[in-house]
Amino acid sequence: MDIPKKVWDSLVEQQLEEGRAILDRVDYNTELGLAMAKGAQQVMKGVITSDQFYEKFKQAVEEEFGVTFQPVKESPKNPKSRAFGGKKWAMVIDLAKCVGCDTCTVSCKAENRTPPGVTYNVVIEDTVGTFPNVKNINLPRPCMQCDKPPCVQVCPVRASYKLENGIVAIDADRCIGCRYCQVACPYGSRYFDFGLSYEQEMTGYDAVQASEYGVAHGRRTPTKEPVGTVRKCTFCMHRLERGEEPACVETCIGDARYFGDLNDPNSIVSKLAASPRAFRLREELGTEPRVIYLK
Ligand code: SF4
Ligand code: SF4
Repeated sequence: MDIPKKVWDSLVEQQLEEGRAILDRVDYNTELGLAMAKGAQQVMKGVITSDQFYEKFKQAVEEEFGVTFQPVKESPKNPKSRAFGGKKWAMVIDLAKCVGCDTCTVSCKAENRTPPGVTYNVVIEDTVGTFPNVKNINLPRPCMQCDKPPCVQVCPVRASYKLENGIVAIDADRCIGCRYCQVACPYGSRYFDFGLSYEQEMTGYDAVQASEYGVAHGRRTPTKEPVGTVRKCTFCMHRLERGEEPACVETCIGDARYFGDLNDPNSIVSKLAASPRAFRLREELGTEPRVIYLK
């Protein structure tokens, strides 16, 4: 059964939490966050430029947050890291091979030590068709590492940024938890860390920090980042730096995930990206996702 792209898109759209409901729970201006999310969408679609967005919101951001609002910067580089080196990382997910086992979800949670309510990688499941011609479908959904990321556009303190290697990252020490980026993301890929813990189920859970924050962060406590910040998938950048694949790619039991360098025309992801089966979720928004799906 051929599943049209709009069905996959709608699976993501159905999962999105209403922006106003998210921002009403935060001690920052809801209307400004909603307006910036809308403005960021216009930037992605080419209706306005990034400079026009900056001019439009500069004064309001500075009044609301008491910061000097900076334009979106060029991608930071880190030539010492193996995760860079001229690479443009991308992931290909073959939907025909995904069996919906959720191994990727669990391995991601274990690898990134995400707390309750924070799940970087979900598998959205549904049933399509009319009885007796029905089919279960599964859509693994990590962060798309968009090349034109609305989440980066709206961040008032520039805690979210796009790296030269294609990965979109968050500086937890800069993030003030305004959640504007969460509302701007059209894929629901960002989560707020409310400070919940698995300590009762898993002794010692709070003692070790997630790799993305480094050992300097020490024990997880309610008063220290990443608690109170927004979090997301980074293609397991800490693993890439060690020359390893993201945890979800390594553990996928259906071999449905491929990972590699889109700058290399001979890489498996470059070849699969050119397949007639390839598509990107909600690509008409202009976000240019670096996660490519195969129908
Ligand atoms: S929650 Fe953090 S990363 Fe997101 S827009 Fe606010 S300050 Fe930036
Ligand atoms: S999927 Fe969402 S969080 Fe990830 S880069 Fe795109 S807009 Fe940002």
